[in-house]
Amino acid sequence: MTNSTGNESKREQVDLLVVGSGIAGLVTALTAAEQDANVMVVSKGALSSSASYHAQGGIAAACGEDDNPELHAADTLRAGRGLCRPSAVETLVEDAPARIDDLRNWGARFGSEPGLEGGHSRSRVFHSRGAETGREIELAIARRVRAESRIRVCENERVLGLWRSRGYCVGIIGEQGRIFSSATLLATGGAGALWSRTTNPRGALGEGIAIAYRAGAAVADLEFVQFHPTALSASGMLLSEALRGAGALLLDTSGERFTDELAPRDVVARAIAARGSALLDLRPIDRGRFPALIDRIREAGYDPETEPVPVAPAAHYTLGGIVTDLDGRSTLPGLYAAGECACTGVHGANRLASNSLLECVVFGRRAALAALADAPLDLEPESPEPPPAEVDLVDRELREQMWQGAGLVRDAAGLEPLRTASALVPRLVAECALHRRESRGVHFRADFPVEDPELAAHTVLRHGQEPLFERWS
Ligand SMILES: Cc1cc2nc3c(=O)[nH]c(=O)nc-3n(C[C@H](O)[C@H](O)[C@H](O)COP(=O)(O)OP(=O)(O)OC[C@H]3O[C@@H](n4cnc5c(N)ncnc54)[C@H](O)[C@@H]3O)c2cc1C
Repeated sequence: MTNSTGNESKREQVDLLVVGSGIAGLVTALTAAEQDANVMVVSKGALSSSASYHAQGGIAAACGEDDNPELHAADTLRAGRGLCRPSAVETLVEDAPARIDDLRNWGARFGSEPGLEGGHSRSRVFHSRGAETGREIELAIARRVRAESRIRVCENERVLGLWRSRGYCVGIIGEQGRIFSSATLLATGGAGALWSRTTNPRGALGEGIAIAYRAGAAVADLEFVQFHPTALSASGMLLSEALRGAGALLLDTSGERFTDELAPRDVVARAIAARGSALLDLRPIDRGRFPALIDRIREAGYDPETEPVPVAPAAHYTLGGIVTDLDGRSTLPGLYAAGECACTGVHGANRLASNSLLECVVFGRRAALAALADAPLDLEPESPEPPPAEVDLVDRELREQMWQGAGLVRDAAGLEPLRTASALVPRLVAECALHRRESRGVHFRADFPVEDPELAAHTVLRHGQEPLFERWS
């Protein structure tokens, strides 16, 4: 690697360059290494620092005797409110059981019986130690990555832009230099931390989405952001659905119930937002089932045995992202994407719980195989010095602006000012949200509160063009 401001242009070359070390990135890297490819993983933090590490609920796969991929598909499509890409859903649910086997083979341990979760008609959600599923998977595959001689890991290296040559992506521009690669895969996660209240780690800023868009790749569906109804008011720490599934109650400040605790996330979130905040009463449940979570609530200064804890909705999951086909190919040749930063269309307008870890594993693997199978690029970069990468600054004021203007309930008046926001992804979110003049799934517009059957299509943004609705089969 060379310093991007330096004169020397020494380059490293790998078969697959993976940006991001959450579950999507690490699965992609392991899959490619198993195909004898030389892989480099570049991540802006330590290997396991990611949203993946924090995933509490679980990972879905139709493995039970009373279950099958068709039932899993039906539940996914129902959640997605007419907008799921059918071929992506079919791929997700068909591949799921084999991918759970892969994770087990790589060392992840799940409880023997899958559990039932909101929106799933069968018990199909695999958990580790109550609410530690993301941590279990992430640590298991990170150990495997470290032990794999074909994978080089480059931690604490932030990617600022893509290196383009003759219409191809030929690598990345990092803070410390450039890396040339036959194929580049972004697994940089979502953008939840652009909102002031979030369950996401602070680094989840949608940087990969901005980088891809700036390099000419299409992005889509950025208006669809899932807000989790029950995050701890003080910190945004997620209090999993499983607590409500086990019987925890939502109360208003006078101690009255005001909503069906098991209604879909967006319905519960809007019911809480309409009241400003709420209390989650954990006294009726068997708290021993959630030891780690209960400990963390205590550490935050609450005693869930004696008093309900204050909760409020928080930005949680980015449904949109870099447009890809079912094998991770973006619209920019040489560039692939997988995980939360990608948009296959699989989640439609609302994500079914526990389908996103699955998405990382299913589409991460497929993207790795496609990247290696596609004709390797034999391109020398056109210019020895690529143009300097543009970097967005995200501050507290912008996050608050996102919460006010592009939060749970939006309208044109709140979204318009975001079109000139100081960072790119907020501007793209506003463009998509303004273009969709209806309410569907997690996107609720107070000025267009009804779903419009004409708009069952994906909102696609391409550089220098007006937003378009596209139908994906
Ligand atoms: C609290 C919480 C609980 C959740 N619970 C569940 C659950 O139970 N089940 C479920 O299915 N989903 C759950 N989700 C969602 C799920 O965890 C994520 O969708 C998924 O883990 C995303 O994985 P990823 O690999 O795509 O991205 P991430 O895990 O977010 O990883 C992104 C990686 O990219 C790196 N990166 C980002 N930008 C750059 C850059 N510019 N340069 C270099 N590196 C960069 C980051 O450092 C990180 O390593 C939860 C999410 C949260 C936040």
